[in-house]
Amino acid sequence: MSSGATSAALRSVRGRIAELCGQLGRAEPTLVAVSKTKPNAMVQEAYDAGQRHFGENYVQELVGKAPDLPSDIKWHFIGMLQSNKAKQIASLPNIYIVESVHSQKLANALNKHVPEDRKEKLRVLVQVNTSGEDSKSGIEPDGCVKLVTHVIEECDKLQFAGLMTIGRLGDVSPECFDLLNKCKQDVLAAHPQLADQPFEMSMGMSGDFELAIEHGSTSVRVGSSIFGARDYAPGKGPEAALKARQEQQDKEKVAGDEGQQAKGKEQEPGQGKGQENDQTSEASQNNGAAAAAAAPATGAESSSSPENSSATKPQ
Ligand SMILES: *Cc1c(COP(=O)(O)O)cnc(C)c1O
Repeated sequence: MSSGATSAALRSVRGRIAELCGQLGRAEPTLVAVSKTKPNAMVQEAYDAGQRHFGENYVQELVGKAPDLPSDIKWHFIGMLQSNKAKQIASLPNIYIVESVHSQKLANALNKHVPEDRKEKLRVLVQVNTSGEDSKSGIEPDGCVKLVTHVIEECDKLQFAGLMTIGRLGDVSPECFDLLNKCKQDVLAAHPQLADQPFEMSMGMSGDFELAIEHGSTSVRVGSSIFGARDYAPGKGPEAALKARQEQQDKEKVAGDEGQQAKGKEQEPGQGKGQENDQTSEASQNNGAAAAAAAPATGAESSSSPENSSATKPQ
């Protein structure tokens, strides 16, 4: 994508959000620009256009990118995170929030690895699987309150900040968002003190962020509508990961524990920016999001490219 396209697309997305929130008479959600698979030059262009919240899915990609980009970027980790990689994320100086906490084990691992010198607690969202799809990460809705309680009561270095979900791929009904709202009500019933503070509801992506905003989103994660469709070249990165997914899920069923099967051998911080190996495990759980970008022909995705979004939704 040539220089200028990213900032133009960003403006278009911001315009759509502002217009909708104006109509609804509500505050605008945080816009998280999801830069996975995209080069630093594009991140920098969005940054120069005022964007500060960015989201990444893959541990090795984020750990490789962050040191070369402005230190006041607020990074959101939004991908599948294995407990044995929690340290890499928790020790990133400008990690702002981990949106994808799906188990007590992961919460404990993050809590353990928050550096002593970090000035604030590490914000976390509990990710809920509201679509019931096996490919989506997140705790089942009926386990949500228990996990939130664990974070609040057992993880002193973490700050519970709200809930996150990925809507059903290609779904234009608000079912998943309504379910996340139900989870929020359950959490508030169990922890009434949370009603006095901001409660993040991270929901909505390129294909459904307007619907999500109508249903109470406070934070939207928008990738392809800002940076363009992701390029999953054959045999590389996420696409290879998608193919590996089924195999891995089978293995996981045997292993029974999300941390076990990757223990040791996948954790090689010395790999620097070589992402291919590392993306496999995280990407496998974000199949829906990746597939959405890889399949622009579906209805829900047809508005996700910057060209379409500016053409069909002029400000
Ligand atoms: C990739 C991804 C996004 C952004 O998806 P787009 O459809 O490109 O906007 C948002 N959330 C999660 C969890 C993702 O993996």
